[in-house]
Amino acid sequence: MGVLKRYGKYLPISEKTPAVNLEEGSTPLVRLDRIGGELGIELWAKLEGCNPSGSFKDRGMVLAFAKALEDGARAFVCASTGNTSASAAAYAAHVGAPCYVLLPSGKVALGKLAQALIYGARVIAVEGNFDRALEMAREASELKKIAIVNSVNPYRIISQKSGAWEICEALGQAPDLHVIPVGNAGNISAYWAGYRDFNVWGRVSALPKMIGIQAEGAAPLATGKPCPNPETVATAIRIGNPVGAKTAIEAVSQSDGFFETVTDREILDAQKMLASRAGIFAEPASCTTLAGLVKLAAANTAKKLPQGAKTVIILTGNGLKDPDTAISQVEPPVKIGGSLEELLEVMA
Ligand SMILES: *Cc1c(COP(=O)(O)O)cnc(C)c1O
Repeated sequence: MGVLKRYGKYLPISEKTPAVNLEEGSTPLVRLDRIGGELGIELWAKLEGCNPSGSFKDRGMVLAFAKALEDGARAFVCASTGNTSASAAAYAAHVGAPCYVLLPSGKVALGKLAQALIYGARVIAVEGNFDRALEMAREASELKKIAIVNSVNPYRIISQKSGAWEICEALGQAPDLHVIPVGNAGNISAYWAGYRDFNVWGRVSALPKMIGIQAEGAAPLATGKPCPNPETVATAIRIGNPVGAKTAIEAVSQSDGFFETVTDREILDAQKMLASRAGIFAEPASCTTLAGLVKLAAANTAKKLPQGAKTVIILTGNGLKDPDTAISQVEPPVKIGGSLEELLEVMA
């Protein structure tokens, strides 16, 4: 029913706040028995790719837009590795406002670029990486007095907490382990805050361990070292200087969790595993979560991955956003002529 409607009582909105609604949120939480069985855990996947623009970014964008409109904003700007721009462009189109989108040139998945363009945003390719594009967007938003809807916008994080509330309501408790990709490090902090809310409000009695997964080539939080030239196939988390570093580190340490890294190979293997053994096609950044669990299971670290642990992975974005990466990992279709004999031979 839309995040503002479903969770309005928990959000900083009033009758004056425009009721922006693309029916975001309320995404499926699917139990993955086959993969969970292999890993020795009770595994659940939150399908954030089912949001209207195909990623969890819609959960935060809806409140960021509603509050900016309430404050009189007429135009919007963001920098993005792809999904923020797709989401911002969608909401801008929905509410009828112009939107400027800064993308690091050449590093954005095809589907996301298509989205920003078809929704009608003004798309600007910036030479340089995401971190530079974000700096520029921040400065331009101040000079031109237009609303910036990156995760520096506090409302994004506040309504992204809705993901944790939904999980608690679906499971009737918090999971033991919450596994999530970490890029700019807003979402992990939002989920942690959301779980704590439900705990404080007496809705759940325990809290999960927060496990943040980063790609090996873009792992400033997992390694504790700055990463000036982030590089990974998981473009949504190709970020070297996360804006939310401090709160993400707190979420992990307060919850007694940890950060883990995975290689691009492990990410792509996990993407294929999730698609071919669970019927779920998620974009590479999302698949870091399963890749992390596979790595922990293989390392046999019972302390980090206890048998039977109720585990939720956040599949942050839809696989269709990055078709090029997926296609590059699979066999092409079998070609035959038009005869039934050939078909039957292939099917034998
Ligand atoms: C934005 C994004 C992330 C990273 O989330 P942060 O809040 O920046 O850590 C992960 N996966 C996908 C698909 C994303 O779009």
